[in-house]
Formats: sequence, structure tokens, C-alpha cells
Amino acid sequence: MKTLRSSLSSLIYHSKQWFGRTDAGVRILCYHRVNDQDRSYLSVPISDFEEQMRFLWEHEYETVSLAVPVSLPLVARNGGGKKPIVITFDDGYRDNYENAFPIMSKFGFKGVIFLIVDRMGSDHFLTKDQIKEMSQAGFEFGSHSRSHLDLASLEREGKYHEISSSKSLLSNELGMDIRFFCYPCGRYDQESVASVKEAGYLGACSNDPGSNNGKCDPYLLKRTEIAPHDSLYDFEKKLAGAYDWVHKTLHVIRGRP
Ligand SMILES: [Zn+2]
Repeated sequence: MKTLRSSLSSLIYHSKQWFGRTDAGVRILCYHRVNDQDRSYLSVPISDFEEQMRFLWEHEYETVSLAVPVSLPLVARNGGGKKPIVITFDDGYRDNYENAFPIMSKFGFKGVIFLIVDRMGSDHFLTKDQIKEMSQAGFEFGSHSRSHLDLASLEREGKYHEISSSKSLLSNELGMDIRFFCYPCGRYDQESVASVKEAGYLGACSNDPGSNNGKCDPYLLKRTEIAPHDSLYDFEKKLAGAYDWVHKTLHVIRGRP
């Protein structure tokens, strides 16, 4: 299956290059953990992460805030200049501070981290001091709900609790503006999206694959998931959008939104 995915994406990648089709819009990368101990599908090894950041730096990418894909007119680039990209991390793991933060800082990159309120400060998750230090260095923090429940399975009141109260709790605890939301496990329904708007967020990240161009919904921003087994060539293909179609098909097969 992995070989089939890789071959298909290579075919798409080379045909895009052949026809000169560049990837318009802003791509938002999605990571969870960066470490060498945890071998789950959520963890990218440290040396791979560093290699990926170096690739972005060498290819003249610059990290931008999520406000850029939300403010659509800014997306259009007039040739030249650096390429905008957003680097996000879900769940707020402590290794984001220990491993990803120093590597990204070395290349002048900043990220966006989505916190789960109830896990903040517990084992393996970021502490308030770590969050404040990263925030002072230019990282942004958003809400990934209170307890990481499947929002689509909750009643309206439960959704409101997870989405709206997580915003005010994080703002009060951290003393910072919480402008963006991220749907836990990428699962949402129309009521969840409406609740995110009602709660006053500027936008929200889904796990739907693709880049964000002038037509994107700021409350359903698309992302590109980076997996532990990705080679640098896979990473390059993902940046070029060559995996989007493969991921869309997989989401349909797996019944994801
Ligand atoms: Zn999550």
C-alpha cells in the first residue's frame, strides 16, 4: 500500500512539474510529536524533522501565521520572494519545546501549537512556562478543545463546552489571545464549524488535505500531515501537493470528513 501511494504521488509530482503546474496557495503542515523514543504514527524522528526544516530553509520558505491563509488576498504572491508556509503541531506535546523549538529557531522558523486544555502541564505535555517562552519567541498557540473528544459525536452544548470554554480558559491561563481552533482528530460537522465561528475564533484547521488558495473556507483550513516514515523525497512531494489526491481518497475510504 505504501509503495502504491509513493508511486502514485511520484507520478503526480512529475506530471505537475512537466506541465509547469505550481502549487498555489499556502500549505499548512501538520505534526504531532518530534522525538526518537515514541515510535507511534504521531512521532517524527528528530533527525528527519531537522532535515525537513533544512529543506524548507534551503528552498526559501518562510513560516507565516495562520492569519495569512485566513486573510486570503495575502495569499497571492507576485513572483519572487520567499514561499509562505505554516507549521502546526497538534496536542501540545512537551517534545515540541524540547526538540522542535530549538531546531526551528535555528532556521528562524515559528510554529503554531494547538493545546488540549485538560492535558496542559501533565506528563509529556507542555507546561505554562514552556508555552510562554515559545510565545515570546514568536510561536502562536491555539485551542485543540478541552479534552480532545470527537466533536461530531457531541450534542450542541457539549460542542460549545469544548470549543468556546477552551478559548476563554486558555486566554485566562496564559494571558494571550487564542485566535485559532483545530478540530480533534480532524473530525467536525456543520454544528462544530458554526460553534467555532460563534466562539469568536478567526479560523480553524481541519485535517482535510490540500493547500489553501483564494477559495478556502477559513474555518476549514486544509493541512498536509507529515508522517514518521516520510523520506525527504516524500516531504518534497507533499509540499508540491502530489499526495493530496492520495490522501483525499484515503479519507473517503476511512470515512473521515
Ligand atoms: Zn489531536
